Amino acid sequence: MLRAEKAKYRLKFLNIIETHLNKEQLMKLILLGAPGAGKGTVAKLLTKMDGSVQISTGDILRAAVAAGTELGKQAQAAMKAGDLVSDDLIMGIMGERLKEDDCKSGYLLDGFPRTIPQAEALKVLLADMGEELDMVVDIQVAKDVILDRLTTRRTCEGCGEIYNVKSNPPKEEGKCDKCGGAVTQREDETEEAISNRLDVYNEMTAPLASFYEKEGNLVSVNATSSDAVIDAIKAKLAS
Ligand code: AMP
Repeated sequence: MLRAEKAKYRLKFLNIIETHLNKEQLMKLILLGAPGAGKGTVAKLLTKMDGSVQISTGDILRAAVAAGTELGKQAQAAMKAGDLVSDDLIMGIMGERLKEDDCKSGYLLDGFPRTIPQAEALKVLLADMGEELDMVVDIQVAKDVILDRLTTRRTCEGCGEIYNVKSNPPKEEGKCDKCGGAVTQREDETEEAISNRLDVYNEMTAPLASFYEKEGNLVSVNATSSDAVIDAIKAKLAS
């Protein structure tokens, strides 16, 4: 095939994908992956493309801890140690959150579900709401990359924007480019808590990949770049 023709087909293919992402605006995804696999970054890029909302149970819990609410008080100790918060508490949050109006334009679940009971409960919740997930994306990243990312990651306390001291620092040290909030290291990103979070992930969350494989909607992506993950999602949506 001629070069020009190839370019024409590529453009047509990209247009079909963009049409799907822009017009239907109903993408409902779960992003699975170890802490530091890039779920948050991928979610933020996807929401910019298609208008869906990112729902991060970690962000919801951190906001509750910062505000000193009852929920925050119940979650704080487990979070600091890198342990999981109870399934009941999480399902209480998500049962309400998924019924909010902004979810009508699609959602990306980032950090939820994290246990088999949460996945089972989500299945029941979605069935009750008459909804179905488009796909579950399992982002797989090598352990050494994850450890390096987690120890160098910094997060804005105000808006949750993610930075990296080596590869993507804020323009002004300690200050968020977007909202001016304080950019700090998360309390659960000490070496001890990181190591516990990875153990907890392997024990409690990694089995979700087989759970969703059986459900028939799992897409595994072995990639360190968020662009590659997004390309894999787009390709799957277009297929
Ligand atoms: P994350 O920002 O997703 O890494 O979450 C930070 C922490 O919040 C986790 O280490 C857990 O303590 C808690 N957490 C977030 N999501 C969940 C969940 N779905 N189930 C249980 N605990 C969670």
